[in-house]
Amino acid sequence: MAALYFHIPFCKRLCGYCDFLRSVKVQLLPNVVEAMHRELDEQHGFLTDRTIRTIYFGGGTPSLLHPSELERFIEHARQLFDCSAVEEITVEVNPDDITDSYAAALAQTSVNRVSMGIQSFDDNCLRFMGRRHNAEGAIEAVHRLRRAGFDNISVDIIFGVDGFGAESLNNTLNAVLDLDVEHISAYHLTIEPSTRFGRMLAKGRISTVSEQCSEEEFMTVHQRLTAAGYEHYEVSNFAKNGYRSRHNSSYWTGSQYLGIGTGAHSFSGDVRRWCDQKVEEYCQGVVYGSERLSTTDTLNEYIMVSLRRIEGIDLSTIASRWSESEAERVLRVARPFLDNGWLVQQDNRLSVPPEHFLVSDAVIEELFC
Ligand code: SF4
Repeated sequence: MAALYFHIPFCKRLCGYCDFLRSVKVQLLPNVVEAMHRELDEQHGFLTDRTIRTIYFGGGTPSLLHPSELERFIEHARQLFDCSAVEEITVEVNPDDITDSYAAALAQTSVNRVSMGIQSFDDNCLRFMGRRHNAEGAIEAVHRLRRAGFDNISVDIIFGVDGFGAESLNNTLNAVLDLDVEHISAYHLTIEPSTRFGRMLAKGRISTVSEQCSEEEFMTVHQRLTAAGYEHYEVSNFAKNGYRSRHNSSYWTGSQYLGIGTGAHSFSGDVRRWCDQKVEEYCQGVVYGSERLSTTDTLNEYIMVSLRRIEGIDLSTIASRWSESEAERVLRVARPFLDNGWLVQQDNRLSVPPEHFLVSDAVIEELFC
């Protein structure tokens, strides 16, 4: 089964750390929406798997669209694909877009999961990051969604922000646990050179946290959320039982997906394709970059996505999909990590224990073909 992704590339204000494709020219939103419907009509054949399991509206800020516009995309998808077995339809929202009337209108659509970018419950940290909302507004937004009937809510938080240490992080974790949401994504702040934070870092106006601080904060997040009953099922993701993100799981398990909008990526099984045009150019006609994945690329991709999840890699899958000798090579290279505990083996599976997820990139790099 395949996945559909719609990228809404607009934000009212740009956050200091963000390097997603987004624009503040919100007045162009109606034109982009029409261009996205055209793209869906023209490109739906990219998926040979015609059965859709999940639909996801990401951004940017999809909650700048009225819920009726989200439903129009879903209806359009239903005309083109078999959507009779869709399990999950997620929309990312910003807290300050969630009024009572917006939540009520959203509850009238087919959307059944809401992912809210809160990032912190420390107002000073929110101001530092350039977020539009404050902690109180974010808490109220979650309550509004609950009152409207949503029973599958995810919240994003960010840790590893220099100047906002253990107390700030623990207050954020207290608040997110009080909200009792079904899913939590917790990301370490990364600073890309092209962002406002990247420019500030280059001028020495901000710093990154030390490696020791990264590890401590990662462990704080891991321990507090798992102690509260969340499963740490992927490097950055925690879920209550039965509430893993099905859409993201499609990306991690090699399913086909079609991304619509500038900033979106698509994958057909062996071809990866993306659009990163400016919104004005996208409205004139979509242009893609693409690459065909080699056998080595697909193996490396399998190793990368698998080791970021608690299920890990399956050596018998590598033997059957690639070769016996590749499975033997992976096991040989994995040996030092099995000795130091960064990997564990159970039957044919090798996985990074969640408390060591932070070093999974180092393990992945060594295991690459
Ligand atoms: S709201 Fe999200 S997409 Fe928009 S600038 Fe902030 S982090 Fe980036």
